[in-house]
Amino acid sequence: MRMFDLTGKVAIVTGGNGGIGLAIAEGLVAAGASAMLAGRNRDKGLRAANGLGDRAAFEVADVTRKAACDALVAATVARFGRVDILVNNAGTSLRKPPQHFTETEWHTIIDTNLTSAFLMSQAIYPELVRAGGGKIINIGSLNSLLAAPHNVPYTASKGGIMQMGRGLATAWASDNIQVNSILPGWIETDMTVTAKAAVPGLAESVVARTPAGRWGQPRDLAGLAVFLAAPASDWITGTAIPADGGYSIRA
Ligand code: NDP
Repeated sequence: MRMFDLTGKVAIVTGGNGGIGLAIAEGLVAAGASAMLAGRNRDKGLRAANGLGDRAAFEVADVTRKAACDALVAATVARFGRVDILVNNAGTSLRKPPQHFTETEWHTIIDTNLTSAFLMSQAIYPELVRAGGGKIINIGSLNSLLAAPHNVPYTASKGGIMQMGRGLATAWASDNIQVNSILPGWIETDMTVTAKAAVPGLAESVVARTPAGRWGQPRDLAGLAVFLAAPASDWITGTAIPADGGYSIRA
């Protein structure tokens, strides 16, 4: 068995047009897969797909919408002929005390980070069954495990995506579908630039608490994503694996 070879496999990466999603897509393509990147920003998406070469494409999709999720899967099958791997990476964040969130803000965060992953998993399921199995990789967060006062809706969504993944893992194991979560630590992306700027001392405190002594980079997550997409992880399902330079085990 070629344990880490993804030749001939096709992946969908939501939010694959930048940050962590793009780095994961790069890893999957380097391992032999084709990748359909999805997001709302077309220019950013086309640039990202062009940068990955012939085995990548981009489709505009707002994955909070069921119809868009179904259309994304259909477009991927039309372009590449099949789908084997789904990376539920699209996400958003907003920091403030819980009493100050509006109802709309709550729904935006839950829909973007959690509902989208469920709708995409539903949309891709028939294709994975047709392919004889497949892999779903959910991007959680250390907030899947830990809590903080300033991002309660985000924490709820990230706890939810991890638990949703465990549920899907039990439901679809008999279809040879493995579902796992990656829990990234602090990674330098567009999402964290604003937090870094807004929270005095955050940049330094992350470095101080992280045993590895630095912020993570998007590429730090690519290897784990390839592993969870590859035959090497066929006996692993329902797990949630931190990738955080040791942040979460520091006492
Ligand atoms: P970015 O802001 O760089 O990426 C977020 C991506 O999600 C963008 O590509 C964006 O594309 C896409 N997206 C947002 N809303 C939608 C939507 N409705 N439909 C389709 N795509 C959407 O942040 P990161 O790369 O940091 O975040 C990626 C994931 O990693 C998120 O789930 C985040 O919660 C998680 N994470 C990040 C951490 C970090 O430290 N950076 C730590 C832990 C988890 P577009 O705007 O074009 O739609």
